Amino acid sequence: MIKLTQLIQCKHRRMITIYNTLTKTKEPLVPRNNKKIKMFVCGPTVYDYIHIGNARTFVFFDVVTKYLGSQGYEVDYIQNITDIDDKIINKANQENKPWKEVADFYFEEFKKDMVALGVTAPKYIRATDHIEEVKKQVKTLISKKHVYLIENDGWYFDLKTFPEYGKLSGRSAGMAEADDAVSRIDESDKKRNKGDFCVWKLANKSEIGFWEDEELGYGRPGWHIEDTAITEHYFGPQYDIHGGGQDLIFPHHEAEITQQESASGLKPFVKYWLHVAFLVNKDKKMSKSKSNFTTAHELLEKYPKEVLRFYLLSGHYRQPLEFSEKLLNQSAAAMQRIKEFLNKITLSEKEDKYENPITESINKTKDDFKIAMNDDFNTPRAIAEIFGLIRGINSLRGIKSLPQKASDEIIKFFDDIDAILGIIPTEQKEIPVEVQELVNKREKSREEKNYDEADKIRAQINDLGYEVEDTIYGPLVVKK
Ligand code: AMP
Repeated sequence: MIKLTQLIQCKHRRMITIYNTLTKTKEPLVPRNNKKIKMFVCGPTVYDYIHIGNARTFVFFDVVTKYLGSQGYEVDYIQNITDIDDKIINKANQENKPWKEVADFYFEEFKKDMVALGVTAPKYIRATDHIEEVKKQVKTLISKKHVYLIENDGWYFDLKTFPEYGKLSGRSAGMAEADDAVSRIDESDKKRNKGDFCVWKLANKSEIGFWEDEELGYGRPGWHIEDTAITEHYFGPQYDIHGGGQDLIFPHHEAEITQQESASGLKPFVKYWLHVAFLVNKDKKMSKSKSNFTTAHELLEKYPKEVLRFYLLSGHYRQPLEFSEKLLNQSAAAMQRIKEFLNKITLSEKEDKYENPITESINKTKDDFKIAMNDDFNTPRAIAEIFGLIRGINSLRGIKSLPQKASDEIIKFFDDIDAILGIIPTEQKEIPVEVQELVNKREKSREEKNYDEADKIRAQINDLGYEVEDTIYGPLVVKK
């Protein structure tokens, strides 16, 4: 007899649960408005190419949107583009170009990288298209006495007026320092509290990249207010999901809560906060400021998008992911394995006879894939389920011949997976049949622990101009 706890567990596994940084627990996803979800993710500052660490965050939220879509949710996903900032102005000065030209160029490059990575879910919103909304929010905060003026400097948020400051990050108003995310323009010895942050930065009229305003003065949005001005405009004062990299929890997201809940008086500003752990290079966060980064652009020249997405999704989003050639090669090997499997399915002779075990294993994999994704978007487990299916079907009968219906079901399942994860190879370079046969023969020798024979076959593969590297997803074959 099934016990009650098992039934509850079963039901629970069918619900989507997500880890909420605000409550520090995994919670069932219950959107504010039935199946409609409003989601905002912090986008790039467009003064350079994005690196693969940034891409980790953007690919993850692309998958979140597509998975939720596959489960019947309608996700309105927007991402801001910071197209005015000191970094953009510095770059423009270095290159002797107007700042807008620099921002436009890197925004276009960013969009190209996103398309090349198969990131198609978000709508991009440029900060400079919403300066009026920023001014409006600053004025609301002034009228509610949350913001004060430091002459010739800027308008600052007074943290004493928002006692809940720190509820997301667990930090207090006195602690302004934060790892890599130290506020860029919030330095002033005239601030009332150490953590007070600037919402409108003043400048003199000879400086570029600022906007006129009679009440506020000639200035520019502070770091945090562009996001709340944008989301208030598109979503209203409260919405469902806010995402970004872990570096933004403090002070950026803490400040967003402070601004928006003070401006509207409504709580919570955002129901679920999701943060992606860092992509690290030798244990250090990959970051433009540390110059330890590799751009998505460079990697896209070397690897197909499916390999990069597979690599980025091969670790759980709340765990750090190491940047390493070994992991990238493992991902490339995984792609070859999937491609080889799908080729076999397509080429197999089709029988009329229908066999249940294949349908059963596909259905079980579909279920397990869903259970994994429902569990806080556990992409590595979801991927492991796909490889479980490949192993299972391969061992079932060597798939020389297959019932037509089973073959159709397998192809359909992989198409559905691809629409969410985007990891199924389309244009993998073909390995010649002769080489592939040798690789398979070598695998068999290795399984039989006949390593001398395996080495001889490796030499034959080399003679044909190919190299083979063994990874956890099987052999990776590359042209020398
Ligand atoms: P930035 O242009 O630095 O503001 O970053 C754009 C987005 O990428 C933000 O959501 C960051 O939190 C995220 N991000 C930056 N560096 C990393 C990293 N090393 N790993 C994962 N996400 C990152």
